[in-house]
Amino acid sequence: MKFCCLERMKDKINTFSSFGDTGNGGITRLSLSKEAIAARAEFKKRMEALGAVVVTDDLANMYATIEGDEDLPAIMSGSHLDSVVKGGNYDGVLGVLTAMEAAETIVRDHIPHRHPITVVVWTNEEGARFEPAMMSSGVICGKFDKDTMLRSEAKDIPGYTFKDALLESGFMGDIGNRMSPEKYIASIELHAEQGPVLYEENRDIGIVSGVVGMVNYEFRVKGQADHAGTTPMKYRKDALYAAAQALEYLYTELGKLDEELVYTIGKIAAYPNIHTIIPEEVRMTIDSRHKSPEVLKQVISVIENVPEKLSGCTVEAVREWDRKTVDFDKRLVSFVETSADKLGYSSKRMYSGAGHDSQYICELVPTAMIFVPSDKGHSHCELEYTPLENCLKGANVLLNTILEIDRISN
Ligand SMILES: [Zn+2]
Repeated sequence: MKFCCLERMKDKINTFSSFGDTGNGGITRLSLSKEAIAARAEFKKRMEALGAVVVTDDLANMYATIEGDEDLPAIMSGSHLDSVVKGGNYDGVLGVLTAMEAAETIVRDHIPHRHPITVVVWTNEEGARFEPAMMSSGVICGKFDKDTMLRSEAKDIPGYTFKDALLESGFMGDIGNRMSPEKYIASIELHAEQGPVLYEENRDIGIVSGVVGMVNYEFRVKGQADHAGTTPMKYRKDALYAAAQALEYLYTELGKLDEELVYTIGKIAAYPNIHTIIPEEVRMTIDSRHKSPEVLKQVISVIENVPEKLSGCTVEAVREWDRKTVDFDKRLVSFVETSADKLGYSSKRMYSGAGHDSQYICELVPTAMIFVPSDKGHSHCELEYTPLENCLKGANVLLNTILEIDRISN
């Protein structure tokens, strides 16, 4: 087994935590912002110092490649450097830093490897500045139309588009540099879990089998707007009250399904939303996720069985979009597990509840992911934290997984 260096890992985390530092333990490093550009420049500088050739593609995805001993396709690892507003120092960036550390260990310890090793940075994973999330890996993998994406407008600067940001960044490169199945034989992404399971169960490593499927609906509840003072309760058609009844129904019925099912009514709006007017309309969303398509079918049936009439109002459930469960490459997943076992780390097989670039990449290149624990499960906030020792364990699993792929694959 080979081992990464604790001091170097610490230095990487500390250095990258300074790009967009909020002063409260977190970062705001929106995609292609000046803070993100500074992080990219540091990445490029460090990888070139290791002897890597760094190129970017037309979406400013960065590929830093260290040559292998043979003329073979590369093994790829990395994640994203952008964050949400007031995000943490681990989501995404840790996947880049551990891949850098694995590459650095291979170079400095002169570990022989037949395949080139590419450390990758995906542009705009969060979608926090330019929607949608996982934009650039999504374009490459045929999920999104590039021209539509180029027109995506920044949330922080009106009229400023993703295309403007790309041009200004200095990191827009050639379309020919895009990831493709001929160039890469495997992709391994390390990421913070962003949930409490590993932390609560005191495990070192999550062996990620895939990304859970999801269903998304919008409820449209329609009533009648009337005067809040003059309309007796029995004559009202209060859309907010009907929405509350629908919500109660959903929580009760979904609560009877599998215990791993998660469901969230995250967005709700009442109209006209005025103190003295009975709400005429309510719109609310539901997001529900589970690895089993059977369970998701049950979810759909619960949603579609919400009564169409509640308290004199009409209730309509509109299906917005779905995502099928994504399963990662079984052989690579087993390599991750074997590496964790051989290193003596406790681990658990699990599905990711969050979306990641890897869920798109796996359609072009065999892919697996490694999770490390998130302290108390916090993520997308300044409290996000993974202890240094856990980061290093993750880097060690990544390093040995890469070397195992290198040993076995052609
Ligand atoms: Zn992330």
